[in-house]
Amino acid sequence: MLTVDDLTASYGPVTALDGVSFEAPRGEITAVLGANGAGKTTLLRTVSGLIRPTRGTARLGEHDLTSVPTERMAELGLAHVPEGRGVITELTVEENLRLGALGRGRRGPADLDRAYALFPILAERRGRSAHVLSGGERQMLVIARALLAAPSVLLLDEPSLGLAPRIVAQIFDLLRSLVESDGLTVLLVEQNARSALSIADRGVVLNLGRVVVRDTAAALAGDDALRHAYLGF
Ligand code: ATP
Repeated sequence: MLTVDDLTASYGPVTALDGVSFEAPRGEITAVLGANGAGKTTLLRTVSGLIRPTRGTARLGEHDLTSVPTERMAELGLAHVPEGRGVITELTVEENLRLGALGRGRRGPADLDRAYALFPILAERRGRSAHVLSGGERQMLVIARALLAAPSVLLLDEPSLGLAPRIVAQIFDLLRSLVESDGLTVLLVEQNARSALSIADRGVVLNLGRVVVRDTAAALAGDDALRHAYLGF
């Protein structure tokens, strides 16, 4: 379980996260929703130690992630896939995947076969430069690369951005099955609230850095006033 408690973070005078608290249970997808500037990306960056909070904690088991050096995050089982699908275009698909396995430490050899079984398109493209991949394939590559570190918690920032609905559905279905088969804990930041809630177990809605509401995905999707005010559908 990932427990976020009173998390507060600022960029100079701008308070981007203000006393955010929620729990992301193990083996569930927790969607983090809200408009542009709500603080979603800042939340992920603070949980993964890229930004130091001014107050509050993010705990994974007995570890307070906010005081763990960033380079130890993978060892603790945390993987962060930032927005923007950063692949190394000079390397092949397989070389990019192998980089993900560097975070495994001593937890066994990289399971490239499993990555290829999850994302058959990456197996087809394994020897090609990552430069040739489509947006959807790049998104699959960054997720597959993160999974190679064998995380217990996956932080995903806007995986659906700019992708065709069919590709989004394919990626989200896969996330759902990973959560069910591996007990992976996912924190899914999305502007596309409708799609995110269709696969999430629960959701947290942020506005101007604060939690507006936390509830089950079904309750959030069924709340017309909330959807119109904050979720854009
Ligand atoms: P988006 O979907 O646009 O990324 P978001 O919900 O992820 O939105 P954040 O990117 O976390 O929101 O931004 C929260 C607030 O912090 C906004 O007011 C934003 O302008 C501000 N902010 C974000 N990054 C910085 C930065 N590097 N320097 C200063 N202010 C920032």
